[in-house]
Amino acid sequence: MKTEELIAQSDRNIIGTYRRQPVVLVKGAGARVWDSDGREYLDFVAGIAVCSLGHSYPKVVEALRHQAGVLTHVSNLYYTEPQIRLAGMLVANSFADKVFFCNSGTEANEAAIKLARKYAHDNLKGDRYEILTMQGSFHGRTLAAVTATAQEKFHAGFAPLPEGFRYVPFNDVRALEKAVRKRTCAVMVEPIQGESGVRMPSPDYLGGVRQVCDDRGLLLILDEVQTGMGRTGKLFAHEHFGIKPDIMTLAKALGNGYPLGALLTTDRVASAFEPGTHASTFGGNPLGMAAGIAVLRALLEDGIMDNCREVGAYLRERLGDLKEKHYMIQEIRGMGLMVGMNLTVDGAAVVRRCLEKGLLINCAGEHILRFVPPLTITREDVDRAVEILDEALEG
Ligand code: PLP
Repeated sequence: MKTEELIAQSDRNIIGTYRRQPVVLVKGAGARVWDSDGREYLDFVAGIAVCSLGHSYPKVVEALRHQAGVLTHVSNLYYTEPQIRLAGMLVANSFADKVFFCNSGTEANEAAIKLARKYAHDNLKGDRYEILTMQGSFHGRTLAAVTATAQEKFHAGFAPLPEGFRYVPFNDVRALEKAVRKRTCAVMVEPIQGESGVRMPSPDYLGGVRQVCDDRGLLLILDEVQTGMGRTGKLFAHEHFGIKPDIMTLAKALGNGYPLGALLTTDRVASAFEPGTHASTFGGNPLGMAAGIAVLRALLEDGIMDNCREVGAYLRERLGDLKEKHYMIQEIRGMGLMVGMNLTVDGAAVVRRCLEKGLLINCAGEHILRFVPPLTITREDVDRAVEILDEALEG
């Protein structure tokens, strides 16, 4: 089928929840993808911070191939070795003692919300169920996760939303402190706000949030769905800020494209989830676990995070050069290879021009271009991307 026919059929048969670029992608390798007309693109979206090892990373492909031929799914009625191994690796490399596996970031956050409430129900006096989240946050699309997401545009039309969430400004420890009430049981925050445009925390913000949680007996839930798994140059973004959460959620890059989510927590908090309290049919299936094991091993052993730090600094430097040249660039910000460029103009036209010139980038919010390429990109990839962006910004 021709590209136009495929797009027409998509419009006929697939519910229109997405505004898509007019290309049909058919193949990927490393930091490049190809469309159905054979055109090549440099991919600085990476499936929205998912394909952090690049497309078809050989060790992940091999792990999936092997596991597909051995055992793909048996449910959580039984033990499986890949699940036990990935949990052990995540525990060995994080603050956590225990893991719950699911299939997406939303589900991981839904589990975190339930776990925080259940922990409070079992361990704290009074009726404590309220979770404070940050304005501009993004935590997912199920009813609880979207209510935790403190952005009205995602709530419109879905009332009544579940009770038990209140919103405070991001990057404001005093506002958080003041917002805590006797019903509050947890604070949920992204170390760097991704979907609202790579909004950075001030250096002492997360330490301040941790302190408020400790002082007031609240659980700290860090949503590292986008920032985790090496994206910022460390395995988890909170490591840059010298704090530990009580609960952390992961997804996106955990499977490098295989849908995989996880909740990590301490023994103390995990004890609130007993048999029957939470579950997922697909969560922790051997195929996904094989992908996760290969991803985590590559991140730890293949120098990926060193490359992320080095090439990330280079990307920010080169984008800084563009800022000198183009008046519409207001700010470059980010960490590792999670980078935002704040524009005074609508970013959608720039995204479209980049696509036409062979570069995939996306907009987080109307005015912010987001760069979340594979962590394996080279300086030459950055040079090429900056060259295309330079032309696209000319109009
Ligand atoms: N949390 C954060 C920080 C995210 O960036 C996202 C997705 O963009 C989610 C949660 C939702 O994850 P998913 O789309 O896998 O459900």
